[in-house]
Amino acid sequence: MLLVYLVFIIANICSIKSHDWGYTDENGPNNWPGLCKNGKRQSPINIETDNTLKDDLGSLKFLHYDYAFTGILTNTGHNVQITLSGVPIFLSGGGLTSKYVLEQMHFHWGAEHTIDGTRDALELHLVHHDKKYENVSIASQHDDGVAVVAVLFKLNDDDNDNLYAILKAAESVSQWVGKSSIEIQRKVIPVHLLPNDRTTFYRYSGSLTTPGCQESVVWFVMTEKLTISESQVEILKNVQTHNGTLASNYRPTQEVGDRKVYHHLLGYSSSPISTPTPFVFLAAAILSSLF
Ligand SMILES: [Zn+2]
Repeated sequence: MLLVYLVFIIANICSIKSHDWGYTDENGPNNWPGLCKNGKRQSPINIETDNTLKDDLGSLKFLHYDYAFTGILTNTGHNVQITLSGVPIFLSGGGLTSKYVLEQMHFHWGAEHTIDGTRDALELHLVHHDKKYENVSIASQHDDGVAVVAVLFKLNDDDNDNLYAILKAAESVSQWVGKSSIEIQRKVIPVHLLPNDRTTFYRYSGSLTTPGCQESVVWFVMTEKLTISESQVEILKNVQTHNGTLASNYRPTQEVGDRKVYHHLLGYSSSPISTPTPFVFLAAAILSSLF
């Protein structure tokens, strides 16, 4: 009887393990079920800069991003995730019709969004939910319930000092298999993880990039990139999980389909009024004939 019971437990553990998603051949993105397989507005995507619609969508507003927060870093087995404690941090503007609350941020190595086919070394996701929902899990069941700001990091010879304390914490939990957390030894100032130029970004409608791939996300991919050194990326590539070393944790790019990808440029107007009218051409012709 005991043996039967033991076999039952072991079988259960194995079945849980095989159903857990990840980034290996067996449990990786090609085998993720549901919307991940059948969705119509999935993320990430390759952004073809020539095919973006340039427009002024309104500036993104980052409220309390410049405060210093106590941060907890967690090895979730899928990525390393940071949660901050203290006053709420808000995102608004950029065409959003509500205020969004920052819930957590996490990293993907290599980057998930590619720009004209180029994949960078790292991508940070700052994950917000509409304040009218309690959390991201509930918000992800509603259209535009979630807003994610994505920051790309390209490889550079020098370390990025703003990642130092975060990567130190990541190093500490990287060998602990199973969900494990540690306090980050320096206060986290979120604005230090954003590019200096926040006046330009890409925006499109998409999904979570992990199961169940809910199609509820307004994506903001910042145009300006930050940097990270090879040895810093190496720390993340050594994170251990139940399925072995997490050498990379990005989902391949998905079909854009008939979605519009906007490129926000401050002061840019795509309305016909700003394009030269025949009158302007006529006036220019008259003026040039006078001088
Ligand atoms: Zn992510």
